[in-house]
Amino acid sequence: MALKDFFIYLSENRILNSAAQRYGLRLGAQSVVAGVSIEETVKSIKELNKQNISCTVDNLGEFVYEKSEAIEAKNKILEVIQVIHDENLDAHISLKPSQLGLDIEYEFCKENLKEIVALAHQYNIFVNFDMEDYARLHSSFELLEELNKEFDNIGTVIQAYFFESEELIEKYKDFRLRIVKGAYKEPENVAYQTKSEIDKNYIKLIEYHLLNGKFTSIATHDHRVINHVKAFVKKHNIPNEKFEFQMLYGFRKEMQYDLAKEGFNFCTYLPFGKDWYGYFMRRLAERPQNLSLVTKQVFNKKTNTAIGLATTSFVIGRLSKKSKKVKQ
Ligand SMILES: Cc1cc2nc3c(=O)[nH]c(=O)nc-3n(C[C@H](O)[C@H](O)[C@H](O)COP(=O)(O)OP(=O)(O)OC[C@H]3O[C@@H](n4cnc5c(N)ncnc54)[C@H](O)[C@@H]3O)c2cc1C
Repeated sequence: MALKDFFIYLSENRILNSAAQRYGLRLGAQSVVAGVSIEETVKSIKELNKQNISCTVDNLGEFVYEKSEAIEAKNKILEVIQVIHDENLDAHISLKPSQLGLDIEYEFCKENLKEIVALAHQYNIFVNFDMEDYARLHSSFELLEELNKEFDNIGTVIQAYFFESEELIEKYKDFRLRIVKGAYKEPENVAYQTKSEIDKNYIKLIEYHLLNGKFTSIATHDHRVINHVKAFVKKHNIPNEKFEFQMLYGFRKEMQYDLAKEGFNFCTYLPFGKDWYGYFMRRLAERPQNLSLVTKQVFNKKTNTAIGLATTSFVIGRLSKKSKKVKQ
C-alpha cells in the first residue's frame, strides 16, 4: 500500500478516530492543530493577528451520521462566530457541509448552514464552504447557490484536479473563491491524476479568477505557485485587495510571516477541536516528511494508545523497508 493511501486509510478509521478523541492532541498533532478548546484557539488567532495574519477557523469534525452530532457542530461554530465578534478578531469561518449533516439529509444541512451564515452575516463575517470529495461536490455548490439568494457573505473552494473545475470557476466567478489543488483521492473519470496536469490546471484557474473573479484565495504551500502569482499580479497590476495567500496552520511558518511582512494579505487556515485525528492523518498522507512530527512524539512520550501503536508499527515498517533498500 502506498504511503499516502495508508494515511488516508488511517484517517478513515472510526475506531482510531474515537480513541484519539479521548487522548487530546498527540503524535505531533499540536503543531498543526491550533487547540482542542475555543479558548486555546482564540490564543492562537490573537498571536497570528499580531503578525498581520488573518485566520479562517475550522471546527474539526468527521463521521457525522447522527443529527445530534451535526447540531453539536453547528452550536460550536455559532460559538466561534460569537467569539470572533466579541473579541474583534481578524478571522472568519471555514466549514464542511458533511459536518453539518449533508450525508444525513440535504434540507437539515441547509437549515444548519443557514443559521450559521445568518449569524455571521449579522456580524459581517465571511463563511467558506470547504470542498470535500466528488460525491459531495454538486450538492455543496447547490447549497451555496440556495443560501446566496439571501446572503452574500459566503464563498467556496475550487479543486484544480477536477476536469470540470474550469467550468465551475467560470460559473462561480462572482464569489470569493479559494483555489486549491485538491486533497482527496478521486477516480480517473473525474479528476487529473498526475502532479504536472494538476499543477498546470491550478495555475490556469488562479490566473482566470485573479483576472475575472471577485476575490481569490490562493491556498497552497507550493513556493513555485506563490512566486508565479507574485509575478502575475505585478504584470497585470492586480491590487492586493483582490487576493490573499492561504496556508494551513503550522506549515511553512516562516513563509507565512514573510508573505504578510511583504504586504500581501495572508490568511492561516486554523483547525481546532477534539476531532483532530482524521485531519492530522490526511496531512501526513499529503506530505510524508511530516512523519518527523510523529516519530519525535511517538518515541518521546508514553503512547499506549491504539493510534500510537498503529503509527509506530507503520513507522518501524517504513524504516526497516528503507534500511533494506540501502543494503540492496
Ligand atoms: C488553506 C488551505 C485550505 C484548503 N482547503 C481545501 C479544501 O477545501 N478542499 C480540498 O480538497 N483541499 C483543500 N486544501 C488542500 C489542497 O487541496 C492540497 O491538498 C494541499 O494544499 C497540498 O497541495 P499544495 O498546493 O500545498 O502543494 P503540494 O503539491 O503538496 O506541494 C508542492 C511543493 O511545495 C513544497 N511544499 C509543500 N508543502 C511543504 C511544506 N510543508 N514544507 C516545505 N515545502 C513544502 C514542496 O516542494 C512540494 O513539492 C487546502 C489547502 C490549504 C493550504
